[in-house]
Amino acid sequence: KRLSSADLRALFLSFFRERGHQVVASSSLVPGNDPTLLFTNAGMVQFKDVFLGKDKRSYSRAASSQRCVRAGGKHNDLENVGYTARHHTFFEMLGNFSFGDYFKRDAIRFAWDFVTGKQYLGIDPQRLMVTVYHTDDEAYDIWLKDVGVPADRIVRIGDKPGGGSDNFWQMGETGPCGPCSEIFYDHGAHIPGGPPGSPDADGDRWIEIWNLVFMQFDRSEEGKLTPLPKPSVDTGMGLERTAAVMQGVHSNYEIDMFVNLIKAAAAATNSKDLSSSSLRVIADHIRACSFLVADGVFPSNEGRGYVLRRIIRRAIRHGYKLGQTQPFFYTLVAALEKEMGEAYPELRTQRAQIERVLKQEEERFAETLSQGMVLLDQAIARLGGKKEIPGETVFRLYDTFGFPSDLTADIARERGLTIDEPGFEQAMQVQRDTSKAASKFGVDLRAGVSLDDKTNFSGYANLVDAGTVVALLRGKE
Ligand code: ATP
Ligand code: MG
Ligand code: MG
Ligand code: MG
Repeated sequence: KRLSSADLRALFLSFFRERGHQVVASSSLVPGNDPTLLFTNAGMVQFKDVFLGKDKRSYSRAASSQRCVRAGGKHNDLENVGYTARHHTFFEMLGNFSFGDYFKRDAIRFAWDFVTGKQYLGIDPQRLMVTVYHTDDEAYDIWLKDVGVPADRIVRIGDKPGGGSDNFWQMGETGPCGPCSEIFYDHGAHIPGGPPGSPDADGDRWIEIWNLVFMQFDRSEEGKLTPLPKPSVDTGMGLERTAAVMQGVHSNYEIDMFVNLIKAAAAATNSKDLSSSSLRVIADHIRACSFLVADGVFPSNEGRGYVLRRIIRRAIRHGYKLGQTQPFFYTLVAALEKEMGEAYPELRTQRAQIERVLKQEEERFAETLSQGMVLLDQAIARLGGKKEIPGETVFRLYDTFGFPSDLTADIARERGLTIDEPGFEQAMQVQRDTSKAASKFGVDLRAGVSLDDKTNFSGYANLVDAGTVVALLRGKE
């Protein structure tokens, strides 16, 4: 059955409302109570303190459609955009939550009923596979015996060689954690990629649509897992990925919400080929950038603002690649407002502001973009047979022309090249060490915040080193 994105969102929320869940509005992309987190990147972020027992709500079950951005720090899908069918920088995560109320059995039952139930998504179980954490016999048995999923469609996922697992969620070195279970949809044998757990699982054939996290343990300093008195549930289903399934298309970029955006991007860049990956990147980025500005983020040279700047500049560069050298990106806000303004009225109330901010950033970058491209083309011509753009070049593009290093990496990748990241870092370090002057952007480069998340956004430093947190930060895994 075909379902629009808006109908899918509404159906999900009403399904859980009927099952005793309080429907809670999406929170801001800028986490209100968490300076360690760059952006809201999962539905659980606004409930973090409830899970930790530091905050109480009047309800023990909730559901939401949460706007998320994964474009910085550890949770960075920026580099995937334009290359996979399933990743966005901005996306909506549908989620249901239990705060010490129901646990694995109901969470799995709800998810399966919603996904396969004829009055809901009605997806053919033959196209689904599920994963559980390798030691989670309880979840395994629920899928097998309660739900009736055949054993050859349930995959146990263990730990990765370097530690961690796609199917074990942990908040940090200590604190709530637990196994999770994911639901995958098979888009068909014509698409490269293997089933979950196989060596080529990273392809786009089997796509993860829903992750159910069973918060089950409290992890002590010594790594001991003590069962929580009140096990909880945190789930996340990708709205765009599920809409793709429901609309019979493979890529998220072919769903209703994107079709008009891509058309608008094509018109604004005078492009004919609607399947161009640059148009997909631009359509993705206009969502992320508009919502970030609506939530109060402004382009700058540090922290959140620098992530926004990087996304805007990347979109502009893709426009340039399509032959558009005049400001165009800001004109797409109108199409976005049309597409998503009903669900997100802030796009309507803030439209003028968003356009102003984006246009200003475009005008600013336009001055140096073409010069930088000339320099880069020359540097590439000088490479001979070498496949790596020197760190010095990457640094000069950054320092003189305002090219974020990931933008240079994006261009390099299109041409089958890579960038010398350590060399770039080194050049950055030399500048930090020697330059007493403020940078040309008017901020002190030696300030604690690094300008590229490859070097670790400083707000993450201790967390990222802890290795874990991945979990809490992304909410899943
Ligand atoms: P993947 O392994 O495909 O990168 P994930 O395991 O990182 O996904 P989770 O952290 O489990 O994703 O997030 C919960 C759900 O949110 C996913 O099952 C997926 O449907 C959706 N999702 C995650 N990242 C993205 C993204 N970058 N763009 C669109 N949807 C996403
Ligand atoms: Mg991911
Ligand atoms: Mg995954
Ligand atoms: Mg996942």
